[in-house]
Amino acid sequence: MKIPFFIKNIFETKTEGEESWGKVETAGNELKKDVYGKLGRSLFIRLVDSGSCNACENELSALSNPYYDLERFGLKFVASPKHADILFITGCMTRNMLNPVLNAYNNIPEPKFVVTIGDCAGESSIFRESYAVMGPVSKRLSVVMHIDGCPPEPKTIISSLISLFRK
Ligand code: SF4
Repeated sequence: MKIPFFIKNIFETKTEGEESWGKVETAGNELKKDVYGKLGRSLFIRLVDSGSCNACENELSALSNPYYDLERFGLKFVASPKHADILFITGCMTRNMLNPVLNAYNNIPEPKFVVTIGDCAGESSIFRESYAVMGPVSKRLSVVMHIDGCPPEPKTIISSLISLFRK
């Protein structure tokens, strides 16, 4: 019997979704293994927006939604830099946000790492010529990893973190 196309489409979509879900599970479990292997505990992340359009934050927020649910893999966003291991910075390094970014960095206990997320925080910001922008974050702080994209999608962020922990 020939299956009507709309029923076939429903099943194909579900299969793609399941495949994608499986990839998130696999990548998340790899990340969990690497983080626990290196730290012996969960990883705590402090995020500071140094002047973004908020799309990078939306992608980072997606990591906490029920689909990705990053916390089940041992990665948690925290409100205080004093509780953090790693500083995520999104957006251009604007004049107004320079001191808050440096304050957040200074309040993270050692050892600490900086990861920049999205093109704006890196060298290729489209706003780099603006009077309000102080240049890439790497001019001010030592950055262990930059994740490209405008914005980078959650899967890219997870796979970049896996490669960071394997360094
Ligand atoms: S990299 Fe793109 S998405 Fe991220 S803050 Fe800049 S313009 Fe927005």
